[in-house]
Amino acid sequence: MCSLFGIVAPDLPVADLTYLALYALQHRGQEGAGISVSNHGQIQTYKQLGLVPQVFTETVLRQQLIGQMAIGHTRYSTTGSGHVVENLQPLEFSLDGMPFTVAHNGNLVNQFELHSELTERGYRFKTSSDTEIVGALIAQFSGLSFEEAIFAATRKIKGAYSLVFLTPDRVLGMRDPYGIRPLLLGKMGNHYMLASESPAFDIVGGKLIRDIEPGELVSITDVGVETKMYEAQTKRRMCVFEYIYLARPDGDLYGRNVYKARRRMGEQLALEHPVKADVVIGVPDSGTPAALGYAKASGIEYEEGLIKNRYVGRTFINPDPMVRDLGVKIKLHPIREVIEGKRVVVVDDSIVRGTTSRKIVSLLKQTGAAEVHMRVSSPPIVSPCFYGIDTASYDELIGARKTPAEIARYLGADSLGYLSIEGMVKAIRLSDDQFCMACLNGKYPIEVPASMKREKNLLTEPAPPAVA
Ligand code: AMP
Repeated sequence: MCSLFGIVAPDLPVADLTYLALYALQHRGQEGAGISVSNHGQIQTYKQLGLVPQVFTETVLRQQLIGQMAIGHTRYSTTGSGHVVENLQPLEFSLDGMPFTVAHNGNLVNQFELHSELTERGYRFKTSSDTEIVGALIAQFSGLSFEEAIFAATRKIKGAYSLVFLTPDRVLGMRDPYGIRPLLLGKMGNHYMLASESPAFDIVGGKLIRDIEPGELVSITDVGVETKMYEAQTKRRMCVFEYIYLARPDGDLYGRNVYKARRRMGEQLALEHPVKADVVIGVPDSGTPAALGYAKASGIEYEEGLIKNRYVGRTFINPDPMVRDLGVKIKLHPIREVIEGKRVVVVDDSIVRGTTSRKIVSLLKQTGAAEVHMRVSSPPIVSPCFYGIDTASYDELIGARKTPAEIARYLGADSLGYLSIEGMVKAIRLSDDQFCMACLNGKYPIEVPASMKREKNLLTEPAPPAVA
């Protein structure tokens, strides 16, 4: 996942603004955070493991991070070890003596090949993050301008990459030729900003202008913004999981509000999988908009049936399965008065491994639900993501191994209904060729090398038939 932010605002406290923006983007990565500033051409970076407010103290922001422009990052590891300070971003490099820093959201699919190539050429890696490959490649193009060096690097890297760069005099941002991970342009007064999601602009008092296009590089200085297409062959293939789960509901992507899209997914789900029931509840917070939509379209009353303890982080995010398991219990508590004796429709945004839904169904039954009908506002997740989201390996994905009927039995639910791919696309209100839906249909817009597929246990292609 990961989040990115960038701003050029010589008359404003850029580190404080970046801190606030990263706070708004915390949900995209909770392992660590970093900010780089350029202070009259001198670049300073501060990064630590932990949540944004734990990483940046007032002293750090006001004394160590003074500058006129900044970039920031929150990290959620998809490559490299999560809890290692060296892997935090922005990472620092130089091109012909000019310092620059880079932060990345995505995943390079040819990282193993490029890692070996750079190592053979004598480059010594300091991190296990694929972002270092991008910086190291750019740094090798001595004699080129910074933008030319970026363009040269993009001819070698393959995969999903939204990137922000800081140089002594500018902030740059780019999206890969398929625009898989988001990146948006915002404005506050005369100042331009970049962010992974639009609420980051709102929180600092700015507003969204537009999405950066696939294959576009924007360069922001204190006089304005310039844009170039570095790749002619581009396609919009944005990650559909941003709409399903990842992005904040109060943001817009490609002109569609995420909350409204999720609500419509719930409405569509009710049309596709109706059931006689007494109450509709959502799994907070990710299932709430779709549960509201389901209730509206079905005419069944919506209630809050599960209360979330807000002081427990996203449990899924902890890579240790034991901790993740315990986390579900700490995190959600049922309201007996809403559940007991009722036929309950429970709506969540997705089923990945099935662990969360299984626990929720059992919790509702223990609380006295007469029936539990699980409704999922996305289609089954059948293939791993190689483009920067931790949606588990092929072996762990329950949707890849079992049919919906088998999954319903595993969950202990009285029925289970998934939203169809067509229904989901209709609800988002963009055409289906605008998305990467590899996790839902196994069609990867950027070819994934066998070496990378092995990493996620995807040894056969196409996926083997479902087993009991
Ligand atoms: P699971 O127990 O593996 O089926 O997890 C499904 C739950 O995790 C759902 O409630 C989703 O809202 C949430 N979820 C789905 N994908 C992710 C992800 N990549 N990172 C964190 N949480 C996720």
